[in-house]
Amino acid sequence: MPETMLAGRLDVRTRAFAVEEVPKPAPGPGEVLVRVAAAGICLSDVHLIEGQLSPLFLAGGAVTLGHEVAGTVAELGDGVTGWTEGQPVLLQAGEEKDGWVHTRGVDYDGGWAEYALATVGTLVPVPDGMPLEQACIVPDAVSTPWASIVRTAGVRAGQPVGVWGIGGLGAHAVQLLRLAGAAPIVAVDPVPAARERALAFGADLALDPADDVAARVRELTGGAGLAYAFDFAGVAPVREQAVRTLERDGALVLVGLTDQPLAIRNGTQFSYFGQRVLGHYGSEPGHVQELVSLVRHGRLDLSRSISGTLPLTEAARGVEMLARKEGDPIRLVITP
Ligand SMILES: [Zn+2]
Repeated sequence: MPETMLAGRLDVRTRAFAVEEVPKPAPGPGEVLVRVAAAGICLSDVHLIEGQLSPLFLAGGAVTLGHEVAGTVAELGDGVTGWTEGQPVLLQAGEEKDGWVHTRGVDYDGGWAEYALATVGTLVPVPDGMPLEQACIVPDAVSTPWASIVRTAGVRAGQPVGVWGIGGLGAHAVQLLRLAGAAPIVAVDPVPAARERALAFGADLALDPADDVAARVRELTGGAGLAYAFDFAGVAPVREQAVRTLERDGALVLVGLTDQPLAIRNGTQFSYFGQRVLGHYGSEPGHVQELVSLVRHGRLDLSRSISGTLPLTEAARGVEMLARKEGDPIRLVITP
């Protein structure tokens, strides 16, 4: 009898999700088998299950979900050196194959399982004292906003910024903008609890989108407006509101994803002021390493980021909680 394990599998043809017994994988050359301790539930997982998102490179019709994964080294494949059994690691959310980024838990099996395979180059050591529940969310939930701030926008200390949508990624964006020295930081969200969270995470002002956001921003910035307006919500009205808060040369940064068109109400004004729209997607391995270093050296505290943990058998329930924003979670984490 081959050894088996539990895994949360999505049939991408029917979009049926189930936790089932599958063969426990064995690491091939250059691979490491990781005993999963924690795996985040992301809105992309909801989108995969609901059918708005489809794998581009998946071989076969089913995949184990989970692209935010941390655990301990369980077994080394042939030729793997430099890692020891029991060592705590987090896994990069994807890797490049033939020039294309393949995403873990989308294009190949992810970490909603007792064990996950990883190419050795995607392992990142977790520093002493960093809980694996916090480590697992660094790729994506923390690294995507970080990359949007430091790479796509290139925010410098003292620049005024705004964040629309204070969910999992947006809350981290506020915290990371504070770390990057942005000032002031304006947060916009219709949910009162999300606005309170934004203030706790370092926003200077938290507004309801129903407020006169453009006027309040001008007031706070001495009439100038924002250097960067980050959209983490991915909805059309947010983008329209955010554009109207920009300063000359200011940029709207699109992090939230949507298949809806983007409208600029006054194109002449937008052009006259030399304003810009910047698309953003994901992060690079270096961003994850920077964030681990920031945690390790006491600059970044992710202890408030875990809203709850669930056993693997309750993965579907966790997905539902996130889809319905039950309890307004930052991150729910599966602990197989
Ligand atoms: Zn994600």
